[in-house]
Amino acid sequence: MSTVTFPVPVVAAGGCSDAPVLRERGQHEVFCGLTGIIWLHRKIQDAFFLVVGSRTCAHLIQSAAGVMIFAEPRFATAIIDERDLAGLADANVELDRVVTQLLARRPEIKLLFLVGSCPSEVIKLDLSRAASRLSAEHSPAVRVLNYSGSGIETTFTQGEDACLTSMVPGLPSQAAEAPLELLVVGTLADVVEDQFMRLFSSMGIERVRFFPPRRASDQAPVGPHTRMLLAQPFLAETARVLQARGAVLLSAPFPLGVEGTSAWLQAAATAFAVPPQRFEAAVSAPTARAKAALARAKVHLAGKSIFFFPDSQLEIPLARFLSRELDMRLTEVGTPYLHRQHMASELALLPAGTFLSEGQHVENQLDRCRAAQPDIVVCGLGLANPLESEGMTTKWAIELVFTPIQGFDQAGDLAELFTRPLVRRMRLAA
Ligand code: SF4
Repeated sequence: MSTVTFPVPVVAAGGCSDAPVLRERGQHEVFCGLTGIIWLHRKIQDAFFLVVGSRTCAHLIQSAAGVMIFAEPRFATAIIDERDLAGLADANVELDRVVTQLLARRPEIKLLFLVGSCPSEVIKLDLSRAASRLSAEHSPAVRVLNYSGSGIETTFTQGEDACLTSMVPGLPSQAAEAPLELLVVGTLADVVEDQFMRLFSSMGIERVRFFPPRRASDQAPVGPHTRMLLAQPFLAETARVLQARGAVLLSAPFPLGVEGTSAWLQAAATAFAVPPQRFEAAVSAPTARAKAALARAKVHLAGKSIFFFPDSQLEIPLARFLSRELDMRLTEVGTPYLHRQHMASELALLPAGTFLSEGQHVENQLDRCRAAQPDIVVCGLGLANPLESEGMTTKWAIELVFTPIQGFDQAGDLAELFTRPLVRRMRLAA
């Protein structure tokens, strides 16, 4: 029998800014960074993602994407086979041949990512040299970049961080006299991007770019006149390299729920000196709509307890939203990594005494989850079925990354993602 220990909760001023965090290292249950290709290939519409990996890698993204048989997806896998692994074939020659064939067949591709995997790293295939070589060969029609989606020590949202990081050196530098420009960093669904664009415009902020862009050629200039808002919490490295180019990070919670979205927009409004009345005029109607949608969801969620396994890195902003706007009780909030600077505004808003954990020792965490018996568990696919079979209600963390959940008009949909499994379980039990 195992013992379950909880750290003594500390009531800290400013929510959980100074709260203790249980740090765990051990076996963890996550998808690898290749998963990011599923939402990135939909976003950058003239990019192609070529995974240099094994049949396992190919199966992972094919099944995660649920690609229809007749669709022409913008990703594929160049399979490293036994001859490559045994050193009998020159993997670089093979790769050049595959890329040449691909680009001849798909002339609409303007940006090609070579995505590294565990097998490409095992055979020490240097994809950055391959990308430079292929870029020189196929430019200016096609740029070729590379990043690693390998998953031994990572979590699945790091694939986007690595992808965006690889794009930053190619961004042009801002002119010395450039006006202030807002750069929203992190993949958002097009519908969400359009809503934010309208909100920024009604606030009088017209110079707004999104990164990644919808078209590879839409390269936002970067420099000291860039004000950067993170739309996703898993972009530590992307933010670091943009800051190294002079961009200034605006500190804000993430745009989940009414409170997060308002504060996120307010950070931009402050940086661009938007008058308070103009800000209020822009956000009042969508705020009212979102509050009405949340009131409906609150009937099902208030007082219910929730447990987060570490997976998407969205856990802390989601926990803040669910506790403050829907009155849910947080039993444990696990996150794969805790970036204190990027999470500062979120931690300050979490209820004091929230049990935070970073990293994973899955057996210990399962013991804590079983002991807590939460009403709903947010976890990866690998844990969901076993926990459901034990009678728990689960929500797949990955669904929260695939679904448009940011902004006022998605707040109700986000709450609904949690009400649906609870209502289903209640119906089954009735
Ligand atoms: S964990 Fe490694 S081998 Fe498995 S799918 Fe991801 S990159 Fe491929």
